[in-house]
Amino acid sequence: MSANLARVVQQRVILLMVMSALALLFPRTLFANDEKPPADVSATSLATSLGATLEYDPLTRTGTFSRSGQSVRFGTDIPYILLDWSIVKSVPAPYEGQGTVMVKKDFADALKNFYATKPSASTKYSVKAIVIDPGHGGKDPGAIGEFDGFKLQEKDVNLAIAQRLTDLLRLRYPERTILLTRKGDTYLSLEDRVDMANNIKLGVTDAVIYISIHSNASFNKNTRGYEVWYLNPNYRRTVVDEKTAKEKGQDIAPIINTMLEEEFTTESIILAQKVYQRLGTMIGDKSPARGIRAEEWFVVRNAKMPSILIEVGFVTNKEEAELLTQSPYLRRIADAIYNGVCDFIVHFEQ
Ligand SMILES: [Zn+2]
Repeated sequence: MSANLARVVQQRVILLMVMSALALLFPRTLFANDEKPPADVSATSLATSLGATLEYDPLTRTGTFSRSGQSVRFGTDIPYILLDWSIVKSVPAPYEGQGTVMVKKDFADALKNFYATKPSASTKYSVKAIVIDPGHGGKDPGAIGEFDGFKLQEKDVNLAIAQRLTDLLRLRYPERTILLTRKGDTYLSLEDRVDMANNIKLGVTDAVIYISIHSNASFNKNTRGYEVWYLNPNYRRTVVDEKTAKEKGQDIAPIINTMLEEEFTTESIILAQKVYQRLGTMIGDKSPARGIRAEEWFVVRNAKMPSILIEVGFVTNKEEAELLTQSPYLRRIADAIYNGVCDFIVHFEQ
């Protein structure tokens, strides 16, 4: 037996003696084979014990715990949670059992720590910036209406509404960034517009609203009315930034994206509803409501960006085109959008 081996054997003997002594002192806690793990609890009872509300959607199998504006997103069989829409944390995956969603002790502890260590006031979301994007411009006129005696270009209608909307919002919210993507008749690519929105520096709890203003066209000259569009919930955006994806691993990015996406689609729908309602109040007597619709082509990379696109009316319908040349009518549209945005901010920040 070499000296080295002898030393190893000696160490093992000492270790065994120490373990035996401990076993005598603490027979159950340290060495019992039938040790029971702490019992799992239902998500509902966890919410009750935390004083939080719980919403769970059995279709997407995802849910949210909320308390004082602080949220925890989770999904059944997903071993991660999302704290305040930004921080990813590993947890034992919740599972379906006993007709409900069950969570393990470590999951419950993660939530207890989260709610215990962060003051709620500092984690409330607020709208930091509003991006107003009049569609088209410069070499791109957008839709065109041509009639006896006058011609109407979409880019001009969009800009007139956007300018007044910007003025109103700057008066109402001097402390926030109100960004108009073009101030005059200039051409911007879709990328330019999106970059402007995405380049706004954001804190963890800052959100940006993105409002795109357009006018419609149809081969049917009788078609008229206004519409509000939001991002299609089925459209997969990359809302988790590259740094997070690298830190947490590419495999979880889609999961986190799904969690974020649902919330910000909801916010986009609410923003669309608020603006749509106000349009009904302001121009409903002149222009028919054509509905709230979902679209996939918004290029919005930032997660914290409820986004809508408004089609204010048809430049190809003679009566509507005439209205869209009149400043008082354009002001009514701008005021409607303004009021809808204010309604949304009250909802979002409460
Ligand atoms: Zn357009």
